[in-house]
Amino acid sequence: MEKNSKKSASRDGLSASRLRRLRKSLLEWYDRESRSLPWRLEPSSYRTVVSEFMLQQTQVSTVLPFFETFISRFPSFEALSRASEEEVLAAWSGLGYYRRARALKRTAERIMADHDGELPCNAEALMALPGFGEYTAAAVGSIALHLPLAAIDGNVRRVVARLFATSEDAGISDQANRLLDLRRPGDWNQAMMELGAIVCSPRAPRCLLCPVHVDCRARRLGTVEEFPLKRKLPVLRRVEQVAVAAVRRGAVLLLQRGDDGPFAGMWELPSGDSRENPDGPPAPDKILLGLTRLRAKGFEFVGEAKAVFTHHRITTKLYLASGLGRGTPRRQRHIALRWASASELESLAASKAQRRLFELLRRHLGCEVGGANKKGGKRL
Ligand code: SF4
Repeated sequence: MEKNSKKSASRDGLSASRLRRLRKSLLEWYDRESRSLPWRLEPSSYRTVVSEFMLQQTQVSTVLPFFETFISRFPSFEALSRASEEEVLAAWSGLGYYRRARALKRTAERIMADHDGELPCNAEALMALPGFGEYTAAAVGSIALHLPLAAIDGNVRRVVARLFATSEDAGISDQANRLLDLRRPGDWNQAMMELGAIVCSPRAPRCLLCPVHVDCRARRLGTVEEFPLKRKLPVLRRVEQVAVAAVRRGAVLLLQRGDDGPFAGMWELPSGDSRENPDGPPAPDKILLGLTRLRAKGFEFVGEAKAVFTHHRITTKLYLASGLGRGTPRRQRHIALRWASASELESLAASKAQRRLFELLRRHLGCEVGGANKKGGKRL
């Protein structure tokens, strides 16, 4: 996050006048064409922080339905700091990467406890907040506090790589810092991200409509598609999983994860998978007994759901337990256990993958979420 300078820009072959032209063209285009997004319409430090956390590794279209609901539920750092982690996770439910929700809540607590309810106004103090890396500190610092920090995400990396026809990491970061418009750093960062999102897309960039095409080196060289160099994607490990739905008096048995791991504090169906046993996932009866001490007479196959995580591709087979024993279930590996009705399933903190399993179960039982049973089947 070094500061910009005309001297270094001209050293890299972009003269001061071309640099001025490039900045002017991009900012004018941004003022004219940028999408009206809720966090841009009524900007505030709090809304900027929430939007930046939600947008980490997530597309704008996915964030949109969650943003306003989250803001009305927790309208300020203070409200968020006072909420329970479970309430925050429930409001985040379906957005994925739940570590972000926990970090956002801890950030609100730190802002209330250590900074009088205001964002600290330098990069180092921002980066000391939970969930703030270099990118988030630069994005929040420039947008909410007008700090001269270049925010470099995947979109910006691609735009800069193409503008300067370079794929070198250090080169990209250097050039991004030199391009930064010091008078409007927040708008500049958003303009670069916007350009990468809607014009300079990974495939088939729309160079003819690009406001900075006259200064784009890759376009001049005809090498646009080559930048940035493709990185090797990690090989995803295949995991077979079995999940069990135990239903009693219209409610399904859920377990709550402990404090570790990406799904800490979230609710889920009892399950086991092939990571614990190389011969394959445990049988449904072993899972139910092992995790809850409950026994069932039989297990009916409900359906299959697939989910992709950072390092795993997980296929889950869902079984419905029948002839459930009368005993009271006792939790084994989780921190809590509860019977959840159909409407509670909607509001509890649960991952997207779990929600797909809930949906399979609802369809299998022929019932609607929290509503009347239209098909005459069992009500969950
Ligand atoms: Fe991207 Fe094309 Fe614009 Fe260059 S001219 S920045 S490749 S859209």
